[in-house]
Amino acid sequence: MLPKSSEYDLLLQATLAMSAQHEPAQLARTFVQLAAHALAAKSAMLYDVVPGNAGGFCLRPSQGLALDRGFGTERTGSPHHAIAEQMLSRRDSRCHIASPKSTKVTQLFLLIEPHAKLQQWLAISDVTLPEYAQLACDIAAVYRQCYGLLEENCADTLTGLYNRKPFVARMHEILQRQSEDDAQFGQSNECLLGVIDIDRFKHINDAFGHVVGDEVLLLFSRLLRDSFRASDLVFRFGGEEFVVLLPNTTFGVGAAVFERCREQIASYLFPQVEHVTASIGFTVVYPGKLPMTFVDEADRALYRAKQLGRNRVCSFLELEPVAQASSVELF
Ligand code: GH3
Ligand code: MG
Ligand code: MG
Repeated sequence: MLPKSSEYDLLLQATLAMSAQHEPAQLARTFVQLAAHALAAKSAMLYDVVPGNAGGFCLRPSQGLALDRGFGTERTGSPHHAIAEQMLSRRDSRCHIASPKSTKVTQLFLLIEPHAKLQQWLAISDVTLPEYAQLACDIAAVYRQCYGLLEENCADTLTGLYNRKPFVARMHEILQRQSEDDAQFGQSNECLLGVIDIDRFKHINDAFGHVVGDEVLLLFSRLLRDSFRASDLVFRFGGEEFVVLLPNTTFGVGAAVFERCREQIASYLFPQVEHVTASIGFTVVYPGKLPMTFVDEADRALYRAKQLGRNRVCSFLELEPVAQASSVELF
């Protein structure tokens, strides 16, 4: 059994290393390495729990977070799915460990909930002692805390959505995953980027005052949060402008999701102001361009939606070539 002082040292080392990280992906990588090292594991793998078909879920490897050998190659799903399902059904799943019965275990599973929306699953293989289980939980708890702090720094103070800060990093993650999938499978899931802008918001402020305007922004952001899946990313880019990323979708499904979102906004009854509408422009994201290029494309489509009378969804692909032309191809 590992002496307590060594456990303490490892936990301290892990805390220092994790609290020095500034990027969620880098933090997760550090966490996997430290957990595997502390548990003397032969392999470790971090999965994101993402919505699957038919209301279920699947386990998708978090980017580049495999410490070798075991089961890093699956795209979705996992041999541990049944255990995952069982553990996910528990309410106390914030940092829960599947305790092995024997002293010589081959795999240890740890369910982590870094924040309300993201659940992750750390699978560690060839661990010798179950006493290490508590240490794994402690390291995961530190990881959760560090993740929470990073998230706080990236949160918009009024709405609690992401602010602009994490946008470029998240886009790079998505683009990198797409490149990897393209290389490995010859294709990747589509990702759509939408810019959503409240129509005539200045008028709302002028007619009802800024406090009511802020309330509209707050309720509006809740509507957005409810319109999209947990794995979609919603950013407040500025005033009454929001950017949404829909990874792992198709053009048709994503377009329908944006349309449904627009309808939900238009039919919602806001206090005092009553009806508020929004216009949406969207585009398809793929490797080979800088992240802000896609925002620019979606902005053009948004501009078109405004021109056409607002309260509608337009895609960049349906713009005439002249409106697309100044979008710069970089590679
Ligand atoms: P359009 O349909 O063309 O988008 O018209 P609009 O009035 O929504 O657009 P415009 O850009 O003219 O005005 C945006 C307004 O949003 C102006 C600004 O005062 C207001 N605004 C920006 N940030 C905030 C905020 O945090 N709170 C409130 N209450 N208002 C904000
Ligand atoms: Mg506006
Ligand atoms: Mg605007």
